[in-house]
Amino acid sequence: MPKMMGGLYVGDLQIKNASMLFKWWWHFSMEHEALWKRIICSIHDLNPDGVFKSEDKVAKFGLWKSICSISTWDIHIAEVTKQGMKIQIGNGTKISFWENLWIGHITLKEGFPRLFSVSIQKNKCVADMGVWQGDNWVWQLQWKRRLFQWELLLVDQSNLLIEGFTPLREKDDCHIWPFDKTRCYTTKTFVNAFYKLKYTDLDRKHWFNQVWKGLAPPRYEILLWAILWKRVNTKNRVLKWKEMSWEELRILRCIFCREELKTLSHLFLHCKFSWQLWTGICDAWDTTWVCPLEVDDAFLMWYDSHFVGFERRLWEVFFIATVTLIWELRNEVIFENKSPNWTCLVDQVFLRVGLWGKAWKKNLPYTLEEWLNNWKAMRSWKEKRLVQRTTLRLES
Ligand SMILES: [Zn+2]
Repeated sequence: MPKMMGGLYVGDLQIKNASMLFKWWWHFSMEHEALWKRIICSIHDLNPDGVFKSEDKVAKFGLWKSICSISTWDIHIAEVTKQGMKIQIGNGTKISFWENLWIGHITLKEGFPRLFSVSIQKNKCVADMGVWQGDNWVWQLQWKRRLFQWELLLVDQSNLLIEGFTPLREKDDCHIWPFDKTRCYTTKTFVNAFYKLKYTDLDRKHWFNQVWKGLAPPRYEILLWAILWKRVNTKNRVLKWKEMSWEELRILRCIFCREELKTLSHLFLHCKFSWQLWTGICDAWDTTWVCPLEVDDAFLMWYDSHFVGFERRLWEVFFIATVTLIWELRNEVIFENKSPNWTCLVDQVFLRVGLWGKAWKKNLPYTLEEWLNNWKAMRSWKEKRLVQRTTLRLES
């Protein structure tokens, strides 16, 4: 069950929540005849095809109001919903010629404001902007007055965009979800798209610098950094597996589970063994997380936590310890023919964190013995601190 770093932090819960609410919006746009949709439309006085027109996305109360308002929660959520509701035009009866983004990268109204201002077909849908002559579609744009020469140049330009286009008579206009291969909405791809947008490449570089904090011995920090930049050598970096024979593909299977093809993200995240390890660590912290698509996304999400101070350092070092341990296990399997003992891996991560923690200037407040014997008590240690914080707040 994929979960997004949910329980951690209000921001993540919110995005998860948004992804589930948005699913309703998706169904609203796809299910033309559904009873529930008719009820919603009648309660809120909505246009059933209004999903194509942003100004119609308004409901006055209740759950549907929350659904309509998720794009106001956060600019990245707004961007995901905008990019995610991509129009696939069919017969053009639901799509506003001027105001929907159905061709190119901006709406025709934004691209040609002057032409829009002199159009007498401002509210028309695509299908009403032309006629069929036999099997040929002929555009018939109409203007308030004769156009000036320079306006005709604009018409020429807009023709470049639309002239190759022909509506599909038999097909309804619909939305496609570009973030998923199937073109259908999934909450997982909503969340992933959100994080992709939130951490642009520039931010990534900034975030990746978070690696160098001296929380782990330098060689481990270097290793993590190389993994994040995908500079470690996995077989799939070297070989183009699409061109390989079955025999070659068999060798490429994951060295842990022997099932899937080995990719960086499979090895570190999606392999059932690695995933168990992450889950074990999150359980120890009494938190949950969702498996992101890529290791760098996982890193960004992990480091974007709400923990502060000592707790935060511990939380971050767990990431380094886990990723580097998986890498070492992988090397042991490949080069030393060992088989990893998965049952005690969580303990190995804690040992690693304990050893590294003892070397910090601000020391781990436990002996290594205590740490290893009572690592589960870390949770109560966390709770103790939380209780203290709450009490302080009550007193002040
Ligand atoms: Zn695997």
